[in-house]
Amino acid sequence: MYKLFKRSHVPGIFEVQMSGACDTGIARDHNEDAIAIQEDDGRGYHLAIVCDGMGGHSAGEVASAIAVQVIGEYLATHFGQGDPAELLRHAFTLANERIDDHAAANPAAQGMGCTCVAVLGIRDHFWIAHAGDSRAYRVREGSVEQLTTDHTMVQELVSQGLLKPEQAAVHPYRGRISRCLGHGQSKCDADIAEHTLEKGDNLLLCSDGLSDVVSNAEISALVGQRDVRDASRRLIEAANKAGGPDNISAIVMRRVV
Ligand code: CA
Repeated sequence: MYKLFKRSHVPGIFEVQMSGACDTGIARDHNEDAIAIQEDDGRGYHLAIVCDGMGGHSAGEVASAIAVQVIGEYLATHFGQGDPAELLRHAFTLANERIDDHAAANPAAQGMGCTCVAVLGIRDHFWIAHAGDSRAYRVREGSVEQLTTDHTMVQELVSQGLLKPEQAAVHPYRGRISRCLGHGQSKCDADIAEHTLEKGDNLLLCSDGLSDVVSNAEISALVGQRDVRDASRRLIEAANKAGGPDNISAIVMRRVV
C-alpha cells in the first residue's frame, strides 16, 4: 500500500486536501489498480486518477500504470490550452492509444485494458471523466451521491428498467464492463461531467474492490475522518474487513475552506 498526502491552498478562497491509498486486498496476489494524485503546484488544477487494470499476466497493471502516467502528463503539458472537459477527453483518447500500442508490441499483453475515473479540479469546480466501473462519489453533509454511472452490462439493464439496483449490486456478471481504456478499442468513449465542490464536501474516487463491498453508509461514516489520510486508509481497511476480494483503491478529495 502507498499513501500520498497533498494540499493545495489559494489563500482566502479555498483549500483542497487529497489523500489516496491503493492495496492488493486479501484474495489477490498482485495489484492491477493504479492511482495518482497531482496537487495544484501553481498551475491552477488538482488531478486525481484511479485505474483498475485487466488482462492477466501482469498486463492489467501495465495498462493501469500507462493510463495514470499518460493522463497526468497530458494535463501537465496541456492545461490552460482548452476547455477542461475536452482536455480530459483528449487525455483519455491518448491513454487508450498508448495502451493499445503497448499491447500491439507485446503479444502477451493483447487485450489488456483498464477502467479509469479521473477528476480535474479547478477552484470550486471539478470535471469527472470515466470509462468502466471505477466510481466517483460526492459526500455532502453525510449524504452519499454516486456521480458516475458504471459502464457495465448490468448497469445498462438497470437503466432500461430490466434489473433493480439491488439485484445489480450482487449480480454475478456485475464486473463485466462495457467501456474501458485499451482492450483493442479504436476509441475511448468516456463520460465527462462538471460538478461543484462546496466547503465541507468530500469526493471519493474508488475501484470496484471498494464499491463492491463497502456500503454507502460506511462510505459516509469513514470519509469524514478529521484527517483525509485516515479517511482513505479507513476505507481500504473496511474493504479488507469485508474480505478484500479484489484490489482496492480510494482517493479522498476534500474542500476544507
Ligand atoms: Ca477490480
